[in-house]
Amino acid sequence: MIEITLLGTGSPVPDPNRAGPATLVRAGGQVLLVDCGRGVLQRAAAVGVGAAGLSALLLTHLHSDHIGDLGDLLITRWISTFAPDPAPLPIIGPPGTAETVEATLQAFRHDIGYRIAHHADLDVPPAVQVHEHTDGPVWDRDGVSIRVAPTDHRPVAPTIGFRIEYGGASVVLAGDTVPCATLDGLAAGADALVHTVIRKDIVANIAQQRLQDICDYHSSVQEAAATAARAGVGTLVMTHYVPALVPGQEEQWRALAAGEFGGRIELGDDLHRVEVNGRP
Ligand SMILES: [Zn+2]
Ligand SMILES: [Zn+2]
Repeated sequence: MIEITLLGTGSPVPDPNRAGPATLVRAGGQVLLVDCGRGVLQRAAAVGVGAAGLSALLLTHLHSDHIGDLGDLLITRWISTFAPDPAPLPIIGPPGTAETVEATLQAFRHDIGYRIAHHADLDVPPAVQVHEHTDGPVWDRDGVSIRVAPTDHRPVAPTIGFRIEYGGASVVLAGDTVPCATLDGLAAGADALVHTVIRKDIVANIAQQRLQDICDYHSSVQEAAATAARAGVGTLVMTHYVPALVPGQEEQWRALAAGEFGGRIELGDDLHRVEVNGRP
């Protein structure tokens, strides 16, 4: 069984009830964090996961809403890991990830210096191990395997989706993307697909060009559902709601997806949890 927890279902727009994009995937004792938007560690704490307990950080792309709390995550993991010589945090993302991580550590260099000076048992900066990929297998550890494929969020490029497999179950995390053949391939036959959704029927009618612009590089609810249907997945998990999903409107969003996809549809608030089992 693979367990998905929507840690943050928000978007770049600050929302009192929704943290920024982040999804926790637990498989075989491994704790994988996909994207690290605003408030991610607060939400992770709510399900008993600390920065020190992460097995790896997976980044779909380098948009601010998906990496907003990268600095908090790196520093908090560093200062809350008490084992001597801790293993570096594996970070898997598209090209550009290493530069972003380096620059983030550079931005916190004063903090890192203060703490090394103050704590006798902290003598090296946060240890990370960044792997940049756009396609193919990226992880194979204790029965958990991960592969990535390119998505299409242009002009944001490169961007990637992740497919995590464990014990006969498989979960695909699409991130932000329009429908594309490479995502269809990555998601083919998966048990669950976690996908960003945009209500283009609402956003396209807002009299503000900068908001209308977001429609051309995201999938609508219907498009995400159609991707799930083409790929033959068992469950569609919708997240990253734009505009924010308003309590009481869940069935409206669900109906839009159900028009394209006949499987199980999950949506909800931060900390919504979905259990995924392999299908016979
Ligand atoms: Zn994005
Ligand atoms: Zn986004």
